[in-house]
Amino acid sequence: MQRTTRIAALLLTASLLLTATAAVAQSDATDRAIDKECHRIGHKLGSVSVRQCLRAQFRDSGGRSVTGQPILEKIIPSRSQPARGRILLIGGTHGDEYSAVSIVFRWLKMFHRYHADQFEWHVVPLLNPDGLLLHRPSVRMNEHGVDLNRNMPTPDWQQRTRAYWKRHHFDPRRYPGTAPLSEPETRWLYNEMRTFKPHAIVSIHAPYGVLDFDGPPRGPRHVGRLHLHLIGTYPGSLGNSAGVQHQIPVITVELPYAGIMPSHRETRRMWRDLNRWLDTHVPKPETLEAHARFDAITEQLMPHPPIKTIGITP
Ligand SMILES: [Zn+2]
Repeated sequence: MQRTTRIAALLLTASLLLTATAAVAQSDATDRAIDKECHRIGHKLGSVSVRQCLRAQFRDSGGRSVTGQPILEKIIPSRSQPARGRILLIGGTHGDEYSAVSIVFRWLKMFHRYHADQFEWHVVPLLNPDGLLLHRPSVRMNEHGVDLNRNMPTPDWQQRTRAYWKRHHFDPRRYPGTAPLSEPETRWLYNEMRTFKPHAIVSIHAPYGVLDFDGPPRGPRHVGRLHLHLIGTYPGSLGNSAGVQHQIPVITVELPYAGIMPSHRETRRMWRDLNRWLDTHVPKPETLEAHARFDAITEQLMPHPPIKTIGITP
């Protein structure tokens, strides 16, 4: 009996050791993948160094691009208890909008300013790593050729994205994909909305030089020199999906140039204005109410196929 117990204990220890070794190996592999991506980012963007990216200590969000590159994320906890709110900041949805990635790195240096630290932040500098890092020059779409900002679930997705794409003469840069959330990057983003339940989303693009807003009224009148100019909602866009359907305010910052960064002064002013608006406008009651109905709204948006078959994990 004693011998059997000893053997069982030995087997258990061996299995725990194996599990621990596998976990270490996996985390080493993840660290290497993050390092590699930081090197690629630093070599691609004039305004971001490899060191700066490594120092930011991004974690693996669990999200992957089509080719398996990690979607980097930094979680910045709030200094106030409880947090004033939760904010999701997203750069680089379109791979060829370089400034929309670089500015996130600049803002990461300013997190102690303008009361930004009263919020909990999830910061995603580059949603579309394949578009930015695997091509020369970089491309707008992901590795399947899909415009990620047309692949989010919105009402009557099939008909409306198709009609929209036709109006744009089937421009390959605006290909919405075969189904809502057909892409690993959008699946990760949507799941992040579902689990983090942000009270506002700040999404950075270029080069239209305006500020757009979707969601429960109203958006900031200006952020730095960018003035509010409602562009309208597109089928499959983040503004439509998160802002209109899920009632999460989405501030879309369209920087004036894809390849030229705003000045340091302007970058700071933008950060100040964003945080001033967040300070006085979130969380909105409409957002809290819609958070509680997240899955019900999803089912309305995607009755076919149901949630499980498109790979959203709880
Ligand atoms: Zn864009």
